Amino acid sequence: MPARSRDPYRALKAAHGRPARPKSRSAALQDEMTRLAREALRAALDLTVDEELDCGECHELLDLFAEIHAAGRDVRALMPLVYLHLQACGDCFEEFEALRRVVAARP
Ligand SMILES: [Zn+2]
Repeated sequence: MPARSRDPYRALKAAHGRPARPKSRSAALQDEMTRLAREALRAALDLTVDEELDCGECHELLDLFAEIHAAGRDVRALMPLVYLHLQACGDCFEEFEALRRVVAARP
């Protein structure tokens, strides 16, 4: 009887085929980055579809936003959707800057 036949893992190997090669570290990292990128994309899409303000909605809230900002409160936490819109929209950001100057110049 050849020695190979006494390999205790022989039956297991036969049942499952060749053992899968363990993933290299860089392949595992690649998988993790892909997963994170998918999550980020999904979050961005959710935000776009469900939660993003349009410019009209942003304008309606901009006075309040400028007041809160002038009061030194955390606008990012209190009005996150307006904050996010201003990060992405130059027109509304200019509007906010103008309002901010008005509020700041107020006696
Ligand atoms: Zn806008």
